[in-house]
Amino acid sequence: MLKRPLPEPTQRQIMLDGQPVDYVLKFSARAKKWRISLNDKGLSVILPARTKPDVAEQALRQHTAWVLKQRQRQQKMAALAAAQPSFAPDTLLLRGQTLPYRVLPAPILKGAAVFDGHTLNVQVPIAADASVAAAVLQAWYLEQALSDIRAGVQRRAEAMQVRPAKISLRDQRRRWGSCSSKGNLSFSWRLILMPPEVLDYVVVHELAHLRHMNHSPKFWALVSQYCPNYKQHAAWLKANQGLIASV
Ligand SMILES: [Zn+2]
Repeated sequence: MLKRPLPEPTQRQIMLDGQPVDYVLKFSARAKKWRISLNDKGLSVILPARTKPDVAEQALRQHTAWVLKQRQRQQKMAALAAAQPSFAPDTLLLRGQTLPYRVLPAPILKGAAVFDGHTLNVQVPIAADASVAAAVLQAWYLEQALSDIRAGVQRRAEAMQVRPAKISLRDQRRRWGSCSSKGNLSFSWRLILMPPEVLDYVVVHELAHLRHMNHSPKFWALVSQYCPNYKQHAAWLKANQGLIASV
């Protein structure tokens, strides 16, 4: 006797409690009874071969509350995962050096990051999930970046006798700084990951644009006057762009 091939899985939708729920209908030669499965790829109903597809709908309707609850939980998890910055535990960088850090649950209401001179202690409320630690870490990095960049701009602007208008931070991975025609400077917060002399070069570079809005020989002469090793720092940026962009 020839075995009939199983039907291909099909994408379907059912309304449960007024909500459209997508699922994949599959058939299995081994299944003896219908089964609902939910994983990170989504919801599927597996039916024994030669079962009517209606059985899948009946099964889902019977378990409406469970399906909707699981689905909601999954959407929440996906949203949390998407909200987390990609800080990897063993590759934290700060000012060109690796930074040891640990997450410490503590009886506090709001998370805080405390640097003890060697380790960054990220304190989070007890029972907080990973996204809280990530958010605390991100806020701390922005603070550090703003403080170093502001200090660098102030020191260099005075020496170079230029006056920037506004300074702002951006979340950029490939562009480290920019200077607008109005004299506003913006910098990527990721400068704080780099060695301080590289951050300084980017600051000098953008401040030099307040005098020369181009990359002319005059511009580079001004940069090199304040930053004689600028070629070395520019090479560092090129060589480490991938690393910095990965954070
Ligand atoms: Zn430039």
